[in-house]
Amino acid sequence: MDMGTLPAALDPASLEGLTAEQLLRTVTGHFGSRFAISTSFQRDGMVIIDLALRIDPATRIFTLDTGRLPEETFAVMEAVRSRYGARVELVYPDAAEVEAMTTLFGPNLFRESVAQRKLCCQVRKVRPMERKMAEFEAHAVGLRREQSGERAATPKAQFVEGKWKFAPIADWTSEQVEEYLAKNGVPRHPLESQGYPSIGCAPCTRPITAGESERAGRWWWEQDGGKECGLHVTPEGRMKRELDVLLEEVLAARR
Ligand code: SF4
Repeated sequence: MDMGTLPAALDPASLEGLTAEQLLRTVTGHFGSRFAISTSFQRDGMVIIDLALRIDPATRIFTLDTGRLPEETFAVMEAVRSRYGARVELVYPDAAEVEAMTTLFGPNLFRESVAQRKLCCQVRKVRPMERKMAEFEAHAVGLRREQSGERAATPKAQFVEGKWKFAPIADWTSEQVEEYLAKNGVPRHPLESQGYPSIGCAPCTRPITAGESERAGRWWWEQDGGKECGLHVTPEGRMKRELDVLLEEVLAARR
């Protein structure tokens, strides 16, 4: 495995033993402007933003504006800009790809099948993310192991497709997150207080009820979608092939 430019002493096993602050101090110091936080401004991402900007106020932050975000996400984005004086880099999907996809399958294609939902996430999230990541060697995300079964084995550091991906609070509990946010007066996404522990695009997110998992409100109508958009877990096998066929159709229909 090519380990990129991280010093040999900082192998994933060593990074696993660091606290979130130690890890962020290490990677911001090493990568500088070739490192970014990718976030959707949910509470876990807000912890990463607050920690990193205390260490290096010039830490780059980017977010994917899928075109279907709730208005409240822009409100918390503005709160981050004013609280920290931070620049937030907005990343958009390719307009021609969105046009081709929605013309072929409709604006709400995600309701039709898991494959079409994953296609929408691919066009609006995964492909823009890949384009943006060309600017960086490393990024940090707010993934935590207790968020879902799919995330239970999330390492704090991994080298994926030529880029470093860090999850500094992978081992934090929900209570630790809440405690950090309250103690440091960190801005909160307005939907969190309305029963949304996990927030994505408006049509694909609902509040959860007592006893449901944190990500139960994402794509809630699916039985076997895996509660992932493809940014952190790539679809496998048959689903991957189905998605590739749909994506080829979209790319062929681009004008
Ligand atoms: S979350 Fe929903 S609207 Fe957003 S990209 Fe995925 S399928 Fe499309």
